[in-house]
Amino acid sequence: MSIKFTQSCPICGRRIDVRASLLGCTVACQHCGAEFTANANQSCPAGREHSDELLARVEKALRRAEAAAAVEAEV
Ligand SMILES: [Zn+2]
Repeated sequence: MSIKFTQSCPICGRRIDVRASLLGCTVACQHCGAEFTANANQSCPAGREHSDELLARVEKALRRAEAAAAVEAEV
């Protein structure tokens, strides 16, 4: 079962159903196809995951650069 909430599209003004898991995410209007942020005062869980993943990747790259610098320093 997915929890939904209803919001009106800021472009066409029609009511659209948005899954609760998409709160704060960019969604497309079912009627006009316009993209907007669903309930913008919430933060998107998918976006959070994404930035966590991005952060982890950046951290990994930093560590690799540090390790490479350490090897260079030893030589
Ligand atoms: Zn619309």
